Amino acid sequence: MARPVSYNLIKKPLEGDISLVEMPDGSMGEGFFATSLDKVIGLARKNSIWPLPFATSCCGIEFMATMGSHYDLGRFGAERVGFSPRQCDLLMVMGTIAKKMGPVVKQVYLQMAEPRWVMAVGACASSGGIFDTYSVLQGIDQVVPVDVYVPGCPPRPEAIIDGVLRIQDLVGKESLRRRNGEHYKALLESYGIQ
Ligand code: SF4
Repeated sequence: MARPVSYNLIKKPLEGDISLVEMPDGSMGEGFFATSLDKVIGLARKNSIWPLPFATSCCGIEFMATMGSHYDLGRFGAERVGFSPRQCDLLMVMGTIAKKMGPVVKQVYLQMAEPRWVMAVGACASSGGIFDTYSVLQGIDQVVPVDVYVPGCPPRPEAIIDGVLRIQDLVGKESLRRRNGEHYKALLESYGIQ
């Protein structure tokens, strides 16, 4: 017997469904709003992240679900995924990374323009996961600096979205020239990156 199929076709009222991005701190008066340039740029950057999905195994499937219509990463302005490092600012490493792949991950990272951020999605990318073996990199932070780790094997799309929101927090508060920060310079130096 055929099972009943239900479709999500109930029209929802738009009112209250659309939320605007948070306004940065500043001064407001009649007909004007003033804030600093770094806050405006932070606002633009955090709501227009271009991810580069570096997916090698099962966690990549969860990312596909995250991009689908149900979870829709586009709600956070990050739907423009790219496979050209020079145009992307968020490297999302998803899946098991063999030691042989380590230099490739690093090369992709180096080809990205500043400012750039890195997210390790899932147990494998964060720590090697269940693959405590001679051939698997025990975390991508052995080759590139990581900004946000997303736990789980695999992480659900909600967890990936939560990771993107954490990245957005960092991006929004970042200085105009991340590369010039002393802490960031020291971090890159520790990875042998000039
Ligand atoms: S963390 Fe789990 S689900 Fe993700 S790539 Fe590793 S084994 Fe697969």
